[in-house]
Amino acid sequence: MSAQAEIVRAAVFRGVGEPLKVENITLDAPAATEVRVRMKAVGMCHTEQHVMCGELPIGMTPMVLGHEGAGIVEAVGSEVTDIVVGDHVALLWQPACQKCAPCKRGEHHRCEQGPKINLGPQLNGTYRRWDSTGEAVGALCMVGAFAEKTVVDQASVVVVDRDLPFDAVALCSCGVACGFGAMAHGAKVQTGETVLVVGAGGSGLSAVQAAAIAGASKIIVADLHQWKLECAQTFGATDIVLVGGEGDITGKVLALTEGVGVDHAVVCVGSAEVLAEAFRATKVGGSVVLSGIPPVTTSHIPLHPLEVLGGNGKTLTGSLYGAISPLVGIPEVLDKYRKGVLKIDEIITRSYSLDEVGDGYADLAAGENLRGLVRF
Ligand SMILES: [Zn+2]
Ligand SMILES: [Zn+2]
Repeated sequence: MSAQAEIVRAAVFRGVGEPLKVENITLDAPAATEVRVRMKAVGMCHTEQHVMCGELPIGMTPMVLGHEGAGIVEAVGSEVTDIVVGDHVALLWQPACQKCAPCKRGEHHRCEQGPKINLGPQLNGTYRRWDSTGEAVGALCMVGAFAEKTVVDQASVVVVDRDLPFDAVALCSCGVACGFGAMAHGAKVQTGETVLVVGAGGSGLSAVQAAAIAGASKIIVADLHQWKLECAQTFGATDIVLVGGEGDITGKVLALTEGVGVDHAVVCVGSAEVLAEAFRATKVGGSVVLSGIPPVTTSHIPLHPLEVLGGNGKTLTGSLYGAISPLVGIPEVLDKYRKGVLKIDEIITRSYSLDEVGDGYADLAAGENLRGLVRF
């Protein structure tokens, strides 16, 4: 039984400033190494917001957005061996190609395909999506999850237990894994240490929980919204910092840490100024981990080299996919969720239909959601 092309509804991005519109597109059958997935839940991550604002460049339009997805496999290509029809899967926003040197070392979060994920085509460089005029349609992160169905390479899929709710699987495919891992595997927080988390959205609250699970003695959370900070307290924040202006984060965190700063800071927002503030709020020899996406227009981090020198071993590093292979990191957070150690359902503020995806991003921009979610 071979799969055939189908017409599916998908949220297509056509240009900066234009609303995300749901269109009928033709979705080709999976190629030999690909699978077709019927989407069940897709989280509304900030990445799409950056794309829609022009802050994150992509290789082409039109393009189906959406990358934080969970669904059910309904067709597999002739060379797919480890995935079967009926499998429940999380979609990977960066493939684990298994062929490059980092993948062969098990460092799939460093896959050499990473720089290509926002160009538009499939992993093998061809297209599976076509609009009503016959124009090729790309797929963000090689997944294009805001659609009734998607076709992705087997490298963009991790199979999960069938009894897990799709909402949690979706969030674990990006925000939860990225935030949790930035703290657990990027900062490597230890019992008794002090931390700062900037940004109290889906990713930041997962970082907060990673710190709490590790036994951090002080978990300071900074955000622009008081209601999100109050939520953060239910996830393990011990202290909150409402950010009102420049210097707030550094000043208030130093005041909360007897002037020495925190052991680790995880920054889940994309501001270079905030990153510099987090650096100044971290103690000598500590670590600062950037997990948020800065706009492409950002030119530099406003830090004086003397501050770097005085950091005396203080590190500033980036963390993609939670600084660990998603083939390890996603099952890790799902396991903690299953055991009741990690809260995920509580991160979901609202759910939307596919047609409401534009409303969901307006709510995100207005700071009204911890995480929005499209349910199918
Ligand atoms: Zn994401
Ligand atoms: Zn690879």
